[in-house]
Amino acid sequence: MTIADETTSTDTPEQAEFRAEVRAFLAANAKPRQQASPWALNVHTSEDEARAAFERGNAWQRTLFENKLAGLTYPVEYGGRGGQPWMESIYREEAADYDVSVGFISATMAMLLPTLMKHATEEQKAYFIPRMLSAEISVAQLFSEPGAGSDLASLACRAVRDGDEFVVTGQKVWNSMAQFCNWGMLLTRTNPDVPKHQGITFVMVEMSSPGIEVRPLVQPTGASHFNEVFLSEVRIPVANVIGEIDGGWGPARTVMSNESAFIGGGGSTMALFDKLLLLARQFGVVDDPMIRQELAVTYTREKVLGYVGDRIMTAIRKREMPPVDPSILKLYIAESRVQSGNLGMQIGGMAAQAGDAEETIWMEHELLNRYGVSIGGGTNEVQRNNLAERALGLPKEPGYDKTTAWKDIPRS
Ligand SMILES: Cc1cc2nc3c(=O)[nH]c(=O)nc-3n(C[C@H](O)[C@H](O)[C@H](O)COP(=O)(O)OP(=O)(O)OC[C@H]3O[C@@H](n4cnc5c(N)ncnc54)[C@H](O)[C@@H]3O)c2cc1C
Repeated sequence: MTIADETTSTDTPEQAEFRAEVRAFLAANAKPRQQASPWALNVHTSEDEARAAFERGNAWQRTLFENKLAGLTYPVEYGGRGGQPWMESIYREEAADYDVSVGFISATMAMLLPTLMKHATEEQKAYFIPRMLSAEISVAQLFSEPGAGSDLASLACRAVRDGDEFVVTGQKVWNSMAQFCNWGMLLTRTNPDVPKHQGITFVMVEMSSPGIEVRPLVQPTGASHFNEVFLSEVRIPVANVIGEIDGGWGPARTVMSNESAFIGGGGSTMALFDKLLLLARQFGVVDDPMIRQELAVTYTREKVLGYVGDRIMTAIRKREMPPVDPSILKLYIAESRVQSGNLGMQIGGMAAQAGDAEETIWMEHELLNRYGVSIGGGTNEVQRNNLAERALGLPKEPGYDKTTAWKDIPRS
């Protein structure tokens, strides 16, 4: 078979060649996706199952790396392929037919790799980027604290310098998959005598460092997505600081902006329309004008998310400024998940809430999960504040805490 036989009609010769390479790679290394029930849930019911899924994702990332298909747009000197953003789309299109997933680390790679490209030293890039691309290093996000979520800059995890090291003590919370990751990106308070945004330092920490205790927060499913992370006099080399000491808010914002783009631009964009249409047919309500109207809304929102997500992700892969603020996308997907969850409820009625049919369990899951995206990666209100201040140039939220030293701000 020639390459021409395998191309799609719009591929350039270079794209056709890459598509043929990806197809050959997938055929040799992956199993075609089995026809699963549309109502199958991607939920782990034990910690062992969650760990196995995490390891499977890392193993797939390693296979991609070994075949020069990881970090498609990252420079060759850091272990990437040095390619073009369209390669990501071709890989995604082809891999959709196979039972493969990078899993959790796709999220932290999407947040941290662009941050390292922008803020890290040459030495740090050469160390972390190839190791992340090969999944030797998996990174947890250690940002939120019991007293610092939306107001992240008020964080209190204290880092005191001692020669070439920081000694860090504090607590983090809601840290996704931190029990499985071997590194963390950690925000610390290095200077309490300046306003809160100015005394933060962003540092990479090995999770096996003495003084780190990870406590999983067990969910009703039996698995733990979240953890609490306690740090007691943890010694971290100053060489692990990303960006400037006391200048950690810059890299932290880069992480958060890329997190919004990831969540909206691929991370949690799920094709719910097809399932909701199937559900409406099964429940015999597909001719109901109110249901049809809401199905059209779901369809439209998914298309808009796809187009805007592609534009933002393409800019990020070219290391350009996104054409619109990624907060728009994060807000839009959060509201879309609420709309589609509500529609499932409207279609199923009582059957969406009680019963043990596969469809019922799926609808319950959608209902319960519809608000998760509205919180993780910054709540809807925070995204609106970002848009007001960054995109529309409106005055910042009033408050004396932007000019007052962090140590003088009252805390509960
Ligand atoms: C699925 C998921 C995954 C997560 N993963 C991680 C992770 O890996 N690492 C990590 O560090 N954290 C993680 N988090 C935590 C997440 O970042 C925080 O939950 C989020 O920032 C909100 O903080 P909070 O929970 O403390 O709520 P709060 O900040 O206490 O907010 C409570 C309510 O007050 C509102 N509010 C607060 N301030 C304002 C304001 N100025 N204007 C208007 N309304 C306001 C909020 O919108 C919200 O409705 C995750 C959360 C979820 C849901």
